[in-house]
Amino acid sequence: MISQRGVHLLTAHGLRGSLQKAALSTTGANHKSYKLVVVGGGAGGCATAAKFSSKLGKGQVAVIDPANMHYYQPMWTLVGGGMKTLEDSGKPMSEVLPRKADWIKRKVVSFDPHNNKVITDKGQEINYEYLVVALGIQLNYEQIEGLPEAFETPGVCSNYSPMYVKKTFKSLKRFKEGNAVFTFPNTPIKCAGAPQKIMYISEEYLRTHGKRDKANIEYFTSLPVIFGIKKYADALWKVVNERNINVNLRQNLVEVKPDSREAIFQNLDKPDEFKTIKYEMLHVTPPMSSPDVLRNCAALVDGAGYLKVNKETLQHESFPNIFGIGDCTNVPTSKTAAAVAGQFGVLHRNLSMVMEGKTPQSVYDGYTSCPLVTGYSTCILAEFDMNGNPLETFPLDQAKERRTMFHMKRDIMPSMYWMGMLNGLWEGPKYVRKAMHLGFSR
Ligand SMILES: Cc1cc2nc3c(=O)[nH]c(=O)nc-3n(C[C@H](O)[C@H](O)[C@H](O)COP(=O)(O)OP(=O)(O)OC[C@H]3O[C@@H](n4cnc5c(N)ncnc54)[C@H](O)[C@@H]3O)c2cc1C
Repeated sequence: MISQRGVHLLTAHGLRGSLQKAALSTTGANHKSYKLVVVGGGAGGCATAAKFSSKLGKGQVAVIDPANMHYYQPMWTLVGGGMKTLEDSGKPMSEVLPRKADWIKRKVVSFDPHNNKVITDKGQEINYEYLVVALGIQLNYEQIEGLPEAFETPGVCSNYSPMYVKKTFKSLKRFKEGNAVFTFPNTPIKCAGAPQKIMYISEEYLRTHGKRDKANIEYFTSLPVIFGIKKYADALWKVVNERNINVNLRQNLVEVKPDSREAIFQNLDKPDEFKTIKYEMLHVTPPMSSPDVLRNCAALVDGAGYLKVNKETLQHESFPNIFGIGDCTNVPTSKTAAAVAGQFGVLHRNLSMVMEGKTPQSVYDGYTSCPLVTGYSTCILAEFDMNGNPLETFPLDQAKERRTMFHMKRDIMPSMYWMGMLNGLWEGPKYVRKAMHLGFSR
């Protein structure tokens, strides 16, 4: 294995010698080789494949992903509130992956970075000269006792999965009276604002449908704060106080009892203390982790199981021909599609440089964003970097609830995703931000 110290000094000239085994040819149905293999065809994988297949030409790039559908997951917040349908949020994978790339519709079951290959669930060995890992994050609903059974009963829902997101709006419509409970788990998650966005939407729905006085709205979060960035946390405390929402900090959902319709929370500061609450509606954000297939490859991951990359260059810390993008990496920023966009430009430039025998130069600033939808027409657009500093695009107070930001979230961002990002044409709002701030922003 290449030593960590030497990684960033390695150039592709050095790499080429060691990688010549990965010849660019198809050597049989069970053994294929590509210049670039992208594992995962979600937000990051699709953008990467689009850019590099157009640059390298047909047959040089493969994307491995078993999914039939590609979903624009940020829309699921709106699906849960009945503003969009699940169908609006998805397209067949065959339509979004680039034509010049080969789509291997299989699941990767193991990585072999020392031999530059990945293995699929069909036993195929796919060799690569360069690898981009874009596996996303894994949802672990089954880690909450009783939850899988509870999903079979009315009122239990989750915007985080296409299997359960439709149930959110159904649960709101059938709500009569009682507790509407929203949870945030005790693990890193994607889009850390989404567990509470649906709560604000639900509150407005119940209010405008004459049910609010019979509803008690409870937010149970494992975190010690309502949101990780103080500027937006202050704004959100104002929202919950004005709208009479109860916030319970450091409370982790550990069990659901569908028969008695009860949710049980552990106090993370006093682990022997448990609280049981009856629910009429229960929106669960599941515990998440790095995908098992990645966690099982010790050479690729950090102690928490995430792909170990340099947080600025996105190049793997031990294997210079491997890069990572998105939720599966250990880049210490909030896991969002916006972060993927910010990372994509850096990955594209740095991987291109490594392919040309140069040292990666481009630096990711940690940009991420979370449009905190607070109802059916308002949104706080949180944008910040990996140090928790606001990094806002517009020269106005983005901590304020605004209709313009809501329209951007609902009406503009989906097109930017489908037409810009997935085609490798959107690298985040860096240049817009600079223009808006007359060049005075980072
Ligand atoms: C409810 C919700 C609301 C959100 N709201 C926002 C928002 O407002 N703004 C925002 O920026 N982000 C938001 N996000 C987060 C955003 O969707 C993700 O951060 C983003 O999709 C991450 O991209 P990715 O490429 O890392 O992973 P993904 O887009 O999840 O793609 C991962 C891909 O890997 C594939 N895969 C998995 N395992 C394997 C395997 N073993 N072999 C091969 N392929 C595999 C999957 O099929 C999938 O296609 C939200 C997410 C949710 C669920």
